[in-house]
Amino acid sequence: MAKRIAILGSTGSIGTNALRVIESLGSDYEAVALTAGSNVKLLAEQVRKFGPKMAVVANTGKLDELKALLQGVNTEILTGEKGLCAAASDRDVDIVIAAIVGAAGLEAVLSAAQAGKTIAIANKEPLVVAGELLTKIARENNARLLPVDSEHSAIFQAMRSGEAGEVNRIILTASGGPLRGFSAEQIKDVTVEQALAHPTWNMGKKVTIDSATMMNKALEVIEARWLFDVPVEKIEVLVHPESIVHSMVEFVDGSIIAQMSAPDMCLPIQYALTYPKRVKGIAGHLKLEQTGKLTFEKPDMEVFRALKLGYEAARAGGTAAAVFNAANEAAVKEFLEGNIKFVNIVELIEYCLNKHKVKKNATLKDLLSADNWARNEVRECLKRKT
Ligand code: NAD
Ligand code: MG
Repeated sequence: MAKRIAILGSTGSIGTNALRVIESLGSDYEAVALTAGSNVKLLAEQVRKFGPKMAVVANTGKLDELKALLQGVNTEILTGEKGLCAAASDRDVDIVIAAIVGAAGLEAVLSAAQAGKTIAIANKEPLVVAGELLTKIARENNARLLPVDSEHSAIFQAMRSGEAGEVNRIILTASGGPLRGFSAEQIKDVTVEQALAHPTWNMGKKVTIDSATMMNKALEVIEARWLFDVPVEKIEVLVHPESIVHSMVEFVDGSIIAQMSAPDMCLPIQYALTYPKRVKGIAGHLKLEQTGKLTFEKPDMEVFRALKLGYEAARAGGTAAAVFNAANEAAVKEFLEGNIKFVNIVELIEYCLNKHKVKKNATLKDLLSADNWARNEVRECLKRKT
């Protein structure tokens, strides 16, 4: 029987690549639910092409438009958080590809976990905000979290070389983004265009800005901490501008196992879908003689302070990472809208983290309220500034 897949965020960078992968895998894989935030035009095109059982537009203001675009099409149309959760937990879904951007994907991922689904997770923010809770709910309901983020897919693949107890450390690689080598002075006035010009990866805007601040790597340290159940002290970041080694695991005997491939998200997406099998796919193959040198360097945590703050938030635990993430989401939005400077993104995150009173043993309600508090703090800061 075909594997039935729900894609949360099918109109995004990961979502559209996931549909290409599903198409290439043939009749063994079938998209049965597609969801988008607001892009109903692309969602309707995808529905006409893939004929899913369900289509969801999260933005309720777009529901009528979607219905009009899909007149005569035999697909159930839903909206809002409820619609996303229905798609994520539907009994006809085997695998949920979580590819919404930001904490907006949290509740749908939690309902997929509650329903015991296999979750191919690209949407790292829910793991950052609620990693402890999400992994606990997944364990209790026999749901499986399979990484799609390229670094975490690499770690997951390397982990197959040994036992969990034999892991010495995880080496998370970072491309360094478009601002690698910039000084603290140079970084202050980076423009939106400069920050969006990623040298190796073509991704959605939010994650691209996160790569420029290195916030992406900070989020990924926390993501790895929960996905692989290792303390952050065992997770190290190395800058690797070629983006060929997607991450490594060092075992206690000193062996380091690396996963290498062309920088193409279709590979980790496919691996999460076909796991534990490997099949021929659409991702490009490497020619190492053309790749040439592979280089590694320590990240500059003074210039890229987000990384340092990420470790601090991870160590603080409780609600700290929810604040760390939410302040970033709010600040990135303001930066993309031209309301703040590049350097203000990390300043705002630091301000929120310093002001926040961490609550340990956080419930979902505590995490959502910490998220909300941080977004509000960012708004208040900007109000005071103008
Ligand atoms: P994107 O902005 O291209 O797409 C986001 C998707 O989420 C779209 O389908 C959009 O309609 C939907 N969406 C946005 N806001 C929503 C909301 N409030 N409610 C419901 N749906 C909403 O983002 P992306 O680059 O595909 O990234 C998705 C996730 O995957 C992020 O968490 C990102 O960090 C992670 N990721 C992306 C890449 C990549 O190559 N793009 C690589 C690794 C990890
Ligand atoms: Mg990544």
